[in-house]
Amino acid sequence: MKKRVLVVGAGLGGLATALRLAKKGYEVEIVEKNSNAGGRLNQIKKDGFTFDTGPSFFAMSYEFEDFARECGIALPFEHYALDPLYSVNFRKNRVTYHLHRDIGKLASQFEQVEPDFENRMKRYLDKCGQVYRDTNFVIKTNYDSLPDYLSALAKANPFLLPLLWRSFWKQVSRYFDSNDAREIVSLVSFFLGKTPFETSAVYTLLSYTEFVHDGYYNVVGGMYRIAEGIVRELEKENVKIHYGTEIVDFGSKDRTVECLLDGEGRKWTADIVVVNADAAVFRGRVFRRKKFSPEMLDRMDWTMGTLTIYLGIKRKMPQLNHHNYYLGDDFTEYARKVFNDPSAAEKPYYYVNVLSRTNPDCAPEGCESLFFVCPVPDLRFKGNWDDRDAIVDGIIDDFSNRTGRNIRNEIVSKTVYTPIEWRDRFNLHRGSALGLAHNMLQTGGFRPKNFDEEFRNVFYVGASTVPGGGLPMVVIGSKLVTERVERFRGNP
Ligand SMILES: Cc1cc2nc3c(=O)[nH]c(=O)nc-3n(C[C@H](O)[C@H](O)[C@H](O)COP(=O)(O)OP(=O)(O)OC[C@H]3O[C@@H](n4cnc5c(N)ncnc54)[C@H](O)[C@@H]3O)c2cc1C
Repeated sequence: MKKRVLVVGAGLGGLATALRLAKKGYEVEIVEKNSNAGGRLNQIKKDGFTFDTGPSFFAMSYEFEDFARECGIALPFEHYALDPLYSVNFRKNRVTYHLHRDIGKLASQFEQVEPDFENRMKRYLDKCGQVYRDTNFVIKTNYDSLPDYLSALAKANPFLLPLLWRSFWKQVSRYFDSNDAREIVSLVSFFLGKTPFETSAVYTLLSYTEFVHDGYYNVVGGMYRIAEGIVRELEKENVKIHYGTEIVDFGSKDRTVECLLDGEGRKWTADIVVVNADAAVFRGRVFRRKKFSPEMLDRMDWTMGTLTIYLGIKRKMPQLNHHNYYLGDDFTEYARKVFNDPSAAEKPYYYVNVLSRTNPDCAPEGCESLFFVCPVPDLRFKGNWDDRDAIVDGIIDDFSNRTGRNIRNEIVSKTVYTPIEWRDRFNLHRGSALGLAHNMLQTGGFRPKNFDEEFRNVFYVGASTVPGGGLPMVVIGSKLVTERVERFRGNP
């Protein structure tokens, strides 16, 4: 008889795992608290505009291709490489750098500020490539215990050891002297939800993936096409998604979860449960584990909160790229404050994505759909967002000044999510946008595991379990958890 799997959450992790399992012959059902699939990978369609709500690009496209191949399907969305990867504008001198993967083209912009940039960048990227090659196996392996993980690390190249404890910023500073180069090259650490001062130098491997190995990609029609494409494939496999269904409780016997209960008191039964809700939050809130109580969660290291703003404007902004960063005057001071000082939002650094730049269908003719992401403290450090409108206006004014276009009177559609909305929509702890941080004591064998400590038939996938957050990592996680489920089927 077919084994029945219940997946809790229809984020990318849940969708990808459901498809892998359905293809392997499991009978799969999904329950999702919200009214559509995708989780943080979502969209807003409003006033004739389409906005990506969370992810606006992805790296490591080969992970999506492997996923499709392993499921025996064609990639269910169309993607294209971004060039430049992004642009970076400095408030102090209004200079804009365009981050091309062609290092010669990139270097020509640094002639004045960082002599010999090209050679320095090549040396830096060589080292990043070595880190990438030597660590790649770590993220693609299931570890059954902490000693198992530590012994795998012990076999890694010893040159990695000092990098584990060095910061991303320190590593970058060994290669570049100018602040412009250091700030730009280390920006990628924000994609992990932390500043370069808090991120380990091991993650300089991301510089290799962005500049050398694969680059960044966008999806034709918007990032939400990824979720829509996988849902279409699930429909072909008769996988049903039950929306508006939030799991709040459970019933168990003999180290096995027998049923899950939703907020309406309905009972959901299955042989195997895969939890795509945040792996730390779910253990605390639904399984009521002391180690994951609200107080214990507060003591863990979480990624940034985000303030996101979705603006439809009735003008074109040809001077913008697909991705645009706006940096302020004092990066060190900013990084010191951004995640724990509420006043940091007064002089924000932010990022603007223009979906309609390469997808004209995402805005009415002559209009542009703009998506702002501003890193802010999570709700532990800034719980009150009554000043939301003032902060949003400050960002819009700063953007207007720096682009030389006052967009205030051009806005025809406006939606804002503070960390409060992010928390409530997706059950994210204190509105932390990317889940648990990736510090050395929260990665690999130290991260909440993808199998349950107590219940033999419960497994986890998604940003706060292994290997970590970001779309390609979550896709790798769907492969790892599928291996766990298969092992359980063979040896229940
Ligand atoms: C603003 C922002 C920008 C980002 N930008 C990028 C980017 O450019 N590139 C990139 O690669 N990544 C980016 N990310 C990260 C990326 O979105 C996440 O790592 C990824 O989408 C997480 O997927 P997931 O499946 O782990 O979780 P989620 O997407 O959070 O899915 C979990 C699902 O479970 C549901 N759920 C929760 N609790 C329950 C419950 N009790 N019962 C039922 N359902 C439940 C939730 O509603 C949700 O649908 C960004 C994230 C944010 C917030």
